Amino acid sequence: MPRESVMEIKTVNRNRIYRMIYQNPRISRPELCHRLGLSMPTVMQNVRYLQDRGLVEEGGSLDSTGGRKAVALTCVKDARTAVGLDLTANHISGVLVDLEGGILAESREKRAFAVSGEYADALAGVVRDLIGKAAAPAERVLGVGVSMPGTFSADGGLMLDSRVLRMQNLRCAELSKSISLPCVFCNDANAAGFAEVWDVQSPSDALYLSLSNTVGGAILLGGQLYKGENQRGGEFGHIPVVRDGKRCYCGKKGCLDAYCSATVLSDLAGGSLPAFFRELREGAPKARIAWADYLDNLAAGVDILRMAFDCPVILGGYVGAYMEDQLEELRGRLAYLNRFDRDGGYVRVCRYRTEASAVGAALIHVQAFVNSI
Ligand SMILES: [Zn+2]
Repeated sequence: MPRESVMEIKTVNRNRIYRMIYQNPRISRPELCHRLGLSMPTVMQNVRYLQDRGLVEEGGSLDSTGGRKAVALTCVKDARTAVGLDLTANHISGVLVDLEGGILAESREKRAFAVSGEYADALAGVVRDLIGKAAAPAERVLGVGVSMPGTFSADGGLMLDSRVLRMQNLRCAELSKSISLPCVFCNDANAAGFAEVWDVQSPSDALYLSLSNTVGGAILLGGQLYKGENQRGGEFGHIPVVRDGKRCYCGKKGCLDAYCSATVLSDLAGGSLPAFFRELREGAPKARIAWADYLDNLAAGVDILRMAFDCPVILGGYVGAYMEDQLEELRGRLAYLNRFDRDGGYVRVCRYRTEASAVGAALIHVQAFVNSI
């Protein structure tokens, strides 16, 4: 067999072993052999390699039905970390995550988006502070993922258009020039959607619907983002839900965005979404009427997504964070609209209630690292 092929098989085996331990904490060496169809010497050699590099550790013995107890293997979750930044018109949010997506440090500061040396320095400062806050060894930080509300070129080097940031054809390197770590850029809703599905053991399909000040989303097929021909896949905000309805910022009438952006609700409570939901809980008639309307339109949009993709729909964004208590009302409407599903059980609420976009952006580095071992 050519030398390259032997090397290739060795690398593939090592990666399969690492990922199996990563996805199944407290797995034993015999179980690895069994599940991966590898010999014990191969497993032992690779586990030793991973232990020597501080990526895998032994964590006590496993219960046994007889004979010698097997030793449990676990990935060292803080062997590497990654930074995620979410840039909006007026804020910079940041997180430092470990290899399991756990948040080790977070920050949020008010700063207007700008393309300037000062802003680039501020981003580098946030990255430094996060690493310092978590006392994370700098050499173990994989890189920085940056999410923004815009569409990007296929290689992520250019932000093509952002209505929120009032920016077109921005070279992303302008923002990362003061950061010495590798940086990747991505759409905020795509990043948030990725955070919801990235660690699911068997690759799964899901749609992520982001209900923030604009409505966006992500299509996740087999655990990977589907971006489409023009990187606009998942722009669910512009699905028409009302014929000749309210004018949307895109120029069309009746888009989901015009009915289900978070501002539709916060505008009724002095610009504060928490205040709107407080009024709703207190039973204020104005809030109750607006919320019923909101749910009707949201159900119409979600129903279209379900009919098109036949997969789970995850609600996220600012409003998604409040949906847990309201899910039954929405599911009732979905069951009424859809004659194929018996209930609206396919819709669920996001896991990351805050900073989902920053976490998802950081996880791009984590996934690349896990796949590269
Ligand atoms: Zn629109």
